[in-house]
Amino acid sequence: MGKGTQARRLSSAFAVPHIATGDMLRAAIQSHTPLGLRVADYLHAGQLVPDEIMVAVVNQRLGDPDVARGFIMDGFPRTMRQAEVFGEFLAGDGQGPARKPESKAERKIDGVIVLDAPVEALVARIAGRRTCESCQKSYHVTSHPAKVEGVCDRCGGTLVQRVDDAEATVRFRLDEYAAKTKPVLDYFAKQRWPLLPVDAIGDIDQVFGRIYSAVLLS
Ligand code: AMP
Repeated sequence: MGKGTQARRLSSAFAVPHIATGDMLRAAIQSHTPLGLRVADYLHAGQLVPDEIMVAVVNQRLGDPDVARGFIMDGFPRTMRQAEVFGEFLAGDGQGPARKPESKAERKIDGVIVLDAPVEALVARIAGRRTCESCQKSYHVTSHPAKVEGVCDRCGGTLVQRVDDAEATVRFRLDEYAAKTKPVLDYFAKQRWPLLPVDAIGDIDQVFGRIYSAVLLS
């Protein structure tokens, strides 16, 4: 589990950028940008941000020159609409700022990593997460506790539970996943994007080992 951690590792292993929509939205909220103000309530409630906003955010990012050689996409697409727009982008016939003439060529997905974990394990994992208010370092009350409870080992900042990590919110997010994100896997299969199921139960290194081999073998 821990898709963000795993995606960051993959991004360094393959030396390609990590595009994490959740991180982008949280950064916008922290810096009080117009985007941040529009999306804050959705994130705090654990709801999905509307598709028009997400498509605009991702389209703009995919127009940056550093993604031309490939990228790790983390947290997108999460709905059928987002998946279709992403499919159009990859086929080279999408609209928007990402479609610069020099990037018209078709792009392909090397693999879609599907992290598998039972719901109760996910709830324990996410609801136990604590994050440093100052440097954002992540801890877990049982599997990765801070040396001094409530205090960040790295910077001495205060550890808090992200509002969207509260248990009721986690359960709501999982329901949203089942209703809106799971059907996207069928779309991926129809597009013949290779689905790479990975058992997400285990420590960070074990899970990374499974992901890395699944990607290399695909
Ligand atoms: P994450 O860090 O990927 O779990 O994302 C945190 C939150 O950001 C989610 O619970 C949503 O509120 C929002 N979010 C991130 N990516 C998307 C997306 N592709 N579509 C809609 N909402 C998103």
